[in-house]
Amino acid sequence: MFKRVLIANRGEIALRILRACHELGVEAVCVYSKADADAPYLRLADRAICIGDAPAKDSYLNISRLISAAEIADVDAIHPGYGFLAERADFSAICRECKIAFIGPSPEAMAKLGDKVECKRTAKAAKVPVFPGSEGAIEEEDEAVELAAQIGYPVIIKASAGGGGRGMRVCRNEATLRSSIKAAQQEALAAFGNGAVFIEKFLEHARHIEIQALGDAHGHAVHLFERDCSVQRRHQKLIEESPAPGVDRKKIATIGESAARLIKAANYCGAATVEFLMDEKQNFYMLEVNTRVQVEHPVTEMVTGVDIMKMSIRLAAGEHLPFKQKDVHVRGHAIECRINAEDPARNFMPSAGVIDTWQLPGGPGVRIDSHVVPGYRVPPNYDSMVGKLICHADDRAQAIARTARALREFQVGPIKTTIPLHLRLMEQSDFRAGGVDIHFLERLLK
Ligand code: ADP
Repeated sequence: MFKRVLIANRGEIALRILRACHELGVEAVCVYSKADADAPYLRLADRAICIGDAPAKDSYLNISRLISAAEIADVDAIHPGYGFLAERADFSAICRECKIAFIGPSPEAMAKLGDKVECKRTAKAAKVPVFPGSEGAIEEEDEAVELAAQIGYPVIIKASAGGGGRGMRVCRNEATLRSSIKAAQQEALAAFGNGAVFIEKFLEHARHIEIQALGDAHGHAVHLFERDCSVQRRHQKLIEESPAPGVDRKKIATIGESAARLIKAANYCGAATVEFLMDEKQNFYMLEVNTRVQVEHPVTEMVTGVDIMKMSIRLAAGEHLPFKQKDVHVRGHAIECRINAEDPARNFMPSAGVIDTWQLPGGPGVRIDSHVVPGYRVPPNYDSMVGKLICHADDRAQAIARTARALREFQVGPIKTTIPLHLRLMEQSDFRAGGVDIHFLERLLK
């Protein structure tokens, strides 16, 4: 096992990694920007190093400063968390050159699964169901039109290097497709430094269902079943749950196995998420692979009992996966609500500032992952998420009741948060019935 790990992140995920390190008997070195100098979790770290100014490019995204901090603290590994540098193959490669273990996949595995076109190719070969669409990048307008005629409209143009819901265009006929291809290529080049685009079938009524997978450095991979993340706003997830309501368990097992095959084919070491859209007939189509631990990993931890964060560290240290697929079971139901410092009544306007009141819910089956304490100031520079509420119970109805109860206990002020919206969702009949699609929340908010 590592002796000392540098946490190249901030906020709740930095604290989550720190907790995992300490449970493994590993020292945790935190880094922080000037905007986070007062962050309470820094006091729990074995060492805390300031790496620069508030803008992420001067601190959490600054590779040379992070590597300097890692060398000063003499760590043997770096955990990137999510966001920031987590999916940057160049960062993984630089860590390797510096003889510091990167807690995540190798640059090769990341390149294979992180680029959407390349990922689709690898997925097809591993017999993972993918969307009907182009095999590689689209070069010419005519090529796209011919393909779209085969797969049928609507189709979606996506950037191979895209992310965060950007660089996508839905085309419902040939005219829009023709007029969109060039623009999409130029846009992708400007936004991601890579102009490659591809097209695939666009699903009108889809659910977002993703598979958590783990791979070790010895050629083994397993899946930890699914999360349903269909409650989204502008492609940003707000609620995640496991298991996915109403989906055939045999189908989930088959899709899960395909996800494990995919990461194995990429020689992937660590935690990965294979994202799928599911249509009304419960057909699955792979969207992309996230090559990191995700925000919503606690949902899977609660239902499977596997500590994904600790596993990510143990696998990077070269340990074998300590269990087999047949040993992984789902018990009960878990729901996660992302608590963002945003005002849902005012079009989700960011609500940064000092949190005076921060009174947490508790009791059976309630977990809070958050770095906030009363008096904490939410810096305006980063993501607006201030915490996650995760509730676990024997079944979905009880998990909803428990989540609603916990949300009513949760008192935050004077900043505004997404808590009232979550409470409204827990009481909403379509959500309670299960199986809402990815446009459900936007319809509800109209
Ligand atoms: P990003 O990497 O930008 O997050 P994804 O490929 O994961 O892009 O897609 C983000 C979201 O866009 C999905 O969750 C879904 O809501 C929508 N989307 C993407 N591809 C399709 C598709 N083929 N059909 C319908 N919706 C899609």
